[in-house]
Amino acid sequence: MSNKEESDKKVAASEAAPPAAQRMRPVVAHDNQAWWDRINEGELPIQRCKECGTLRHPPRPMCWKCQSLEWELIDSSGKGTVYSYVVVHKPPFPGYEYPLLVAIVELEEGTRIVSNLAGIEPEDVKIGMAVQVSIEDVDETLKLPLFRPAS
Ligand SMILES: [Zn+2]
Repeated sequence: MSNKEESDKKVAASEAAPPAAQRMRPVVAHDNQAWWDRINEGELPIQRCKECGTLRHPPRPMCWKCQSLEWELIDSSGKGTVYSYVVVHKPPFPGYEYPLLVAIVELEEGTRIVSNLAGIEPEDVKIGMAVQVSIEDVDETLKLPLFRPAS
């Protein structure tokens, strides 16, 4: 291959569109695999202690209240309210759209979950507003439980 051909090849490679940036991936391991499996099935589960019934999120091996290692997943209605939120402008991580609404949603069952709000502008978000979970494909290989204003 001549130097010119080599040079042309490098130019072509540099002009090719880079692969689409993806969001950071959740760390899925033994203690939260079952929870993520249910998310991938389009459901929002909540972990419940089998001994004392305490709900907890995110999923973890031991109950903070009674130290039991026995747990199960229950169905959540997906209904909740905005407990708190922030509007993230910077730094712009690849794979996210800005401004990014990051919220703590209090589910009606009583646990809280950190998620993103969708389908609403930052200036329209209110503490206490009703939201509903929406399990969405945020890219080709990742489903996340987002929250949208309840209709
Ligand atoms: Zn417990």
